[in-house]
Amino acid sequence: MLNQINGLHHVTSLASGAQENNAFFTKALGLRRVKKTVNFDAPDVYHLYYGDEQGTPGTVMTYFPFPNARRGRAGTGEVATTAFTVPNGALPFWEKRLAELKVSGLERTTRLGENRLMFRGPDGDGFALVEAQDDRTPWATDDVPEDVAIRGFHSADMRLTQRDAEASAELLRFMGYEKDDSQGSTTRFHVPGGNEANVIDLTTTDAPHADQGAGSVHHIAFSVDNREKQLEVRKALMDTGYQVTPVIDRDYFWAIYFRTPGGVLFEVATNEPGFDRDEDTAHLGEALKLPSQHEHLRAKLEQMLEPIKD
Ligand code: ZN
Repeated sequence: MLNQINGLHHVTSLASGAQENNAFFTKALGLRRVKKTVNFDAPDVYHLYYGDEQGTPGTVMTYFPFPNARRGRAGTGEVATTAFTVPNGALPFWEKRLAELKVSGLERTTRLGENRLMFRGPDGDGFALVEAQDDRTPWATDDVPEDVAIRGFHSADMRLTQRDAEASAELLRFMGYEKDDSQGSTTRFHVPGGNEANVIDLTTTDAPHADQGAGSVHHIAFSVDNREKQLEVRKALMDTGYQVTPVIDRDYFWAIYFRTPGGVLFEVATNEPGFDRDEDTAHLGEALKLPSQHEHLRAKLEQMLEPIKD
């Protein structure tokens, strides 16, 4: 069993409009945009990152916005819900705020003793705010003050067939997760001693396989401290029979990718070097940053990418 994984590092989803996506995360949810760059593998598409002040691993929601992308269809073999932690007692604020902003899918539920507010993102993305004790310092805005602000990720909820859930549970245990309690068709796993985003829920369902599109989670990334630990994880996964990509330089972290039983794309990302690698913390996310291999495309990309008004 591995002991290098801390919990979530980031969650990356697909969107349609970049402007709408940016407004939802920075204005409605009050996160900080910590990087405005492009998809390194397809540089005509933005890669937008939202999180806390520094973009601390475990807080970072990221998007590839494809203009006019069709919506995804929910189903099995995907992360159905991405959950963020808010302080105990903050849900009434959020329920009122999100209702006023005409956010869809608002529903109060409880899971494993925690109060949740479910809601949908601009492309139908499945989200929840979960009340929990959490000492992380949040990014605060005029509209979303510190006492109610999002602390970072709480968990990701994977929706799987029974067979894939069993195989995924085995994978999570291999990755260092321990099984917690269950409620209904959901079983919770967590990394002991991990970061504050150390929970994964597995929910079983008979639904057809998901069809990825706008509003779908593209992949979830798990945090490791450094490249050495990442190589240990890579070797262990490959020794177990997983097909893992080589280490890829994403400028702000190094990444490896592999698919789970059931087809969910997992990444293992390093906490180093971080988002202040090419911008001061005070100005994170303001300028369009391009990786060196795409810098020659800057003039074309600046003309082509949808303008984002802050
Ligand atoms: Zn990623």
